[in-house]
Amino acid sequence: MKYGHTPLVVGNWKMNPSTKDAAKRLAQEVKKAIQRVKDVDVVLAPSHLHLESVRGVQNGSAVFQLGIQNVHHEKLGAHTGEVSLPMVKDFGVSHVIIGHSERRKDGETDEMIERKVGAVIKSGLTVVLCVGELERDHSAHYFTHIESQIRSALKGIPRAKLPQVVIAYEPVWAIGTGKTPTPEDVHEMKLFIEKTLSDIYGRNLAQKVRILYGGSVNTKNAGELYQGGSVHGFLVGGASLTAAEFVGIVKSVTA
Ligand code: PEP
Repeated sequence: MKYGHTPLVVGNWKMNPSTKDAAKRLAQEVKKAIQRVKDVDVVLAPSHLHLESVRGVQNGSAVFQLGIQNVHHEKLGAHTGEVSLPMVKDFGVSHVIIGHSERRKDGETDEMIERKVGAVIKSGLTVVLCVGELERDHSAHYFTHIESQIRSALKGIPRAKLPQVVIAYEPVWAIGTGKTPTPEDVHEMKLFIEKTLSDIYGRNLAQKVRILYGGSVNTKNAGELYQGGSVHGFLVGGASLTAAEFVGIVKSVTA
């Protein structure tokens, strides 16, 4: 187990694929290929409507866990089109992605993210908090941007709950573009995120947080981003929709 953490690879299927049968097949292929792969936590986060099919494939096994791509911060009530944490928990979902840049782009604010992160933590589930800069400016303001996203999202999170937090560093310019930072850049940001957590919670607790990288990860670049970036795993978008690609990424963190 590298860096004192079991590595984690999360597949964010976004609004794909278009049928439940295709979702089921993808989950089956992933499950079959990784059932003997040890020392890695794998999470599949399909669309809400495909969770049932994917849970059927999971069938109570620990080969992968279930994730969801968003949640509402209220427990119940008049929130048309939303899904609540009690529903998500009751269903067997363990990981909740919050603050993805595609949701921030659609209007999710830091305040909404703070409320959602707080609600996920209170419910006992694990939050995968996405942070990332829109661009890398020459004056390196992107570091301040990442720090403020983290400080804002974790504002109400008490020390004892920090192990429920996973941070996914996802530079927005790298998502779905085929561009990636260098492994050295990823490493630098990972250290910066650790320092930010350390400033808030102290060094010992900061080290309990898994820090993932996300943005155009594929089987070819995963090995060097993992080793060189010293991250604890990946949040994978596009490549999680092809079983062979996703499985290759999962295997790269166990090598
Ligand atoms: C994502 O959307 O979380 C992501 C990392 O996407 P991609 O892997 O396609 O860049």
